[in-house]
Formats: sequence, structure tokens, C-alpha cells
Amino acid sequence: MTSAGRYPLVLRGGRIGAPRTAPEVFDVAVGADGRIARLGRDLAVSGVEELDLGGRLIVPGLVDVHQHLDKSRIVRRAPNPTGTLLGALDAFRRFAPGVSREEIVERARSTVEACLARGTVAIRSHTNVDLEWELRAVEALVEVRERVRDRVRLQIVAFVTSSGARGAVGRARGLLESALDAGADVVGGAPALAPDPAAFTDMLFEVAARRERRLDLHVDENLDPRHRQIEEVIRQTRERRLQGRVVASHCCSLSALPPSVAKPIIEDLAEARIGIVTLPAANLFLQGREADALAPRGLTRVPDLLAAGVPVACASDNIQDPFVPVGTGDMIELGRWTLLAAHLLSDGLGAALRMITTTPAGFMGLDADYGVNEGALADLLVVNAADAEDMLMTGPLERTVFFHGRHVAGPALPPARPIPPPQI
Ligand SMILES: [Zn+2]
Repeated sequence: MTSAGRYPLVLRGGRIGAPRTAPEVFDVAVGADGRIARLGRDLAVSGVEELDLGGRLIVPGLVDVHQHLDKSRIVRRAPNPTGTLLGALDAFRRFAPGVSREEIVERARSTVEACLARGTVAIRSHTNVDLEWELRAVEALVEVRERVRDRVRLQIVAFVTSSGARGAVGRARGLLESALDAGADVVGGAPALAPDPAAFTDMLFEVAARRERRLDLHVDENLDPRHRQIEEVIRQTRERRLQGRVVASHCCSLSALPPSVAKPIIEDLAEARIGIVTLPAANLFLQGREADALAPRGLTRVPDLLAAGVPVACASDNIQDPFVPVGTGDMIELGRWTLLAAHLLSDGLGAALRMITTTPAGFMGLDADYGVNEGALADLLVVNAADAEDMLMTGPLERTVFFHGRHVAGPALPPARPIPPPQI
């Protein structure tokens, strides 16, 4: 509250409610620290600014926990001739050498703006660290993070890939440590690209444990049942006691395993509290092209993982690059895609909603800062929808976004009418 006893912002008459409940009308008072100070019906408080939500729905801002901002918006200059993962890696390898740090900044900023306009308040971006770019992309993303820090939270993964992973493990370790020194937040990499995936995975876990960083790895991004790198990730997580701090993205080949083989792996994932990120856009585009009939969907076993209690998020992955030629950064769209592509049932809207909100927020460590709760940061999305499931089904076009209690995107809301004095 300000010294004059007024909150900087009060949102009047919004509706808040868990999926499948009738949302109730609430006011939200935001403190000077950008956090939700009071939440309740007809709050007897006053605000420097008071806005009338007119019954609009308030949900927590959306979270996109897996992007590649350094690669976004290059598809016309780097097309993928085969449509496969190898084709994408090859197209990017040919494109990468001529790219400047400034260009990465501009493309990444454009994509961040698009995401913000669609209601995203937090993004985790895997950012290439390799022999071609060395730290160029990490430095670019650190600059972007600084420029957008008052409107969106950006977390940078040092993604040791391509030439960085193919060389000696010691060299990859040096690149990774330099990237963390340069400002990257999270340890990442693609063990499958390394000559010795187990040694490479061991190096990533050793650095993460020693430097107390979270891990987010690209794991088993193929449909070959012989690829079970996930088992090494589970083993390392347990050995180094990193339960709850490790995320495995993709895990497509889990779908290629017989259920009897997949089941104990899924139980181990739940026990080790490893989070899974499914990436329907990349999987639908890149996987299964070798099939000449009944092409597979390519996603991991999302319903089985959820049933076993494994936290699963979905995310954009690549946006308009050789890995995924399309994409808008719209997490509501991604939630719908995941419901369809992962074969959830029609009562899976709540699960899909958690995949774009609370679950990825947990992966990013936002914890108590996140949510429509007193004490959380006021990072909020306001839309015209009957309830949260309706928002996911219909994808409202008008989205008003608040970050730390400040209006940062979408249509402005009208001022609230002053509350009349009590009649005597
Ligand atoms: Zn990725």
C-alpha cells in the first residue's frame, strides 16, 4: 500500500475460479511491490488506479517453458528440405555462421513481443552454446532479458548442442561454464548429439549440481525404442539428489516402447520428481516421416505420464525456423494442440490448462510468486471467457496482460465507477 493508504492498482469485478467451478466475482488489490496484496469480494480498499473488469476472467499469466528464441523467425532463410530433425540441424548449421548478435536480439525481441501480446508472462529459452556461436546467442538473450525485464520474465538455458556436444566433453564443459558465467540461468544440452551420451550427461549433471542450477535437457527426440537416454537422466537425478530440479523435454521414444517397458520408466520419473515437457509442434512436424502408412504423432506418452503423477508441461519449442516452420507463441493454442495431439480426453481441458500455467511455472521455480493468490506477483491475464476451460476451448482474441501489477499488453480496461457512499 502507498503511504496515503491506497494501493497502486485495484481490479474490480473480475471472476476467478478453478476449472469446472462457477467463477466468483472478486476484486484484486495490488501493492507497490507488484504483488497481490488483497483478494476478495467488494474489497473496502481504494486504489490510485481502479479498473473495471466487468466480469472478465482473471487467470495467471501463461508460461512457455521451452522455446528457442535465438533461432526464431529464420525459416525463410533456412528452410528444412527433408522435414526431419537431421534436416533441421543441417539447415541451421549452414545458416548459423553469418548471424550477428544484434540480429539474434532483434528476432528474439519480436518473438517475445508476440508471446506477451498473447498472454505469456514467463519464457524459458534454450539458447545455443556451440563452437560456431560460442557465447553469441547467450549474450544476445542476456541483453533481451534485460530489455524486457519489466514486462516478462525470461530464463536462459545454456543449450550445449551441435559442435559443442560433438567434441571433447572437457571442451563442452568449458563452454557451459562460460555460458553460466555470462548470465545463463539453467543447464541444458542434447546428450544424443554427443559421441558418448552418458559421459556428456554426467558432465551436465556435475556442473548443475556444483553450481546449484536447474537442468532442462533435450532427451530422446526420436521414435527409436533403442534410445533410452531418459534412464541415464533418472539415474543421475537420484545419484546427485536433484529430485524436483530436472526437466526432460521431448522423450518421444517413450511412445515407441511397449507399455510393459515404458511403465517402470514412468514410475521412476514420478519417484525422481522429473518434469516432462511435451512439444507437439516440433514432434508433429519432425517425427514419423519415415512411415509410409499410419504416420505416428511423435509425442511422448502424455496420458500415461499424467496418470502416474509425473508433472507434464507443454510448450512452443521452435517458432518459424527449420525445426517448426510455423508458430505464434500462443500458449492457449498450444494447450489445444496438446489436448488433440497427445490424445487427452474431452475432460482433459483442466490438465491442458495446468500444462501452460502452474506446472511450467513450477519447472521455472516461480513457486509462490505465481498464481492468482495473495502474496503472488500480479502477473495476470484478463480475458472474456466463461471460465478457464472456455478460455482454452475458444481462445479469446482480446487479452489484457499485467506484469507485476502493471498493464503491459492488450486492450486497456475502463476505469471502475467510484463506490457510492453508504445511504443513511
Ligand atoms: Zn527444443
